[in-house]
Amino acid sequence: MKLLISLVLSMIMFFSCSLGNKQISQMKKEEVKNKVKKIEKTNEEWKSILTDNQFYIMREKGTERPFTGKYWDVFDDGTYRCAACGNELFKSDTKFDAHCGWPSFYEAFDSTKIKTADDYKLGYKRTEIMCAKCGAHLGHVFPDGPNPTGLRYCVNSASIELDTTKSERKDDKK
Ligand SMILES: [Zn+2]
Repeated sequence: MKLLISLVLSMIMFFSCSLGNKQISQMKKEEVKNKVKKIEKTNEEWKSILTDNQFYIMREKGTERPFTGKYWDVFDDGTYRCAACGNELFKSDTKFDAHCGWPSFYEAFDSTKIKTADDYKLGYKRTEIMCAKCGAHLGHVFPDGPNPTGLRYCVNSASIELDTTKSERKDDKK
């Protein structure tokens, strides 16, 4: 019985993933178009700016343990910026509770802010997400998110900083 349930669940996952997969390949095409001015620093320089934990996650591509970061269950309004360089990465209104223990978003701030790379470290393909400006590792994007994008940007809390000051967002000017 358990086997049947998991089979049905994985079928559902498979079909809901196809939307997200299309989105991920679209993102990769847009990245080529969007060349952002980059920040480059040596590891020594990053070590003097970041905490040990941030350095491990953002420069050495580590992962914080689920349910331990400071943002997995925060739903305050604001803009999530890169903790290393301040680049705007996500808007709080695209954050959703994915029950996975990491902050999750269904959309990037815009298509210029985040770059991606294929990651086979766990033996299968995942799509790594990085800050397009400073190259900091953020987490991964998965094709199992909610509508409207079907994407789940799964991010380490250590890589982001919530800015609650009112920014001049287009959708605020109503
Ligand atoms: Zn950055």
